[in-house]
Amino acid sequence: MTDVKGERHFLHALEAVLFPSRCQICGCWLDLAGERVLCKECAAGLAPWRGPRCPICGIFLPTPDPSRCGRCAVQPPSFRAHRSWASYGGALRRALHLFKYHDLDGVAPLFQAGLVQIWYESGFPPMDGIVPVPADPTRHRDFSPTLRLAELLARETGIPLWGNVLKKKRTTPPQAGLSQARRLTNLKGAFTLRGAVAGKRLLLLDDVMTTGTTLRTCGDVLTRGGSEVFALTLAQTPLARSLEPS
Ligand SMILES: [Zn+2]
Ligand SMILES: [Zn+2]
Repeated sequence: MTDVKGERHFLHALEAVLFPSRCQICGCWLDLAGERVLCKECAAGLAPWRGPRCPICGIFLPTPDPSRCGRCAVQPPSFRAHRSWASYGGALRRALHLFKYHDLDGVAPLFQAGLVQIWYESGFPPMDGIVPVPADPTRHRDFSPTLRLAELLARETGIPLWGNVLKKKRTTPPQAGLSQARRLTNLKGAFTLRGAVAGKRLLLLDDVMTTGTTLRTCGDVLTRGGSEVFALTLAQTPLARSLEPS
């Protein structure tokens, strides 16, 4: 009788010798006994934010503050609350880049775990649907990272995916590098509603929050349609904090 298990083990070992794998982030050789796609150190770099945050817009704060942040005190968003899983930088920034531009699906389970974690920690009420922030209409790539993240979260939580309810009507220049005022005018009228959302409670999802303008703009469109909106992102940049009025 063939020892199938033993044979599989031998083939696995042979594969490791013939095709050794490197960590997709730092390039070190992977320990094939327990590492896939990323080494343990890089995987550990994808860690949740454990510091204080604004209870409304969810920006990470340097010190605990039970009330809303300065920006929300002056200009609260139309969405009820937003939560990010992690701070954007280091291993997470590189992993997200691999996911977005190289379709490297090996990091998807890590992002899925992060989103599921922040969803359960958020304490948000039950949702009728997940609405991903839509991509530019002229984008030539088939792959939409935000839609993919929304699919991963929907699959794990059982919340229905409402992938087509929000559309982007026109291409907009990248938000990065624009002033706060320019960001708002850049996105003005760019998103439109493609379905009935009145009376629904929706979870708006994006990969990274930079200044919150995209989330706020999409939240406005969904709220005007009569829905109650909450938001989740995988990560937020330190820029989100720098917009805090001093
Ligand atoms: Zn590594
Ligand atoms: Zn806030």
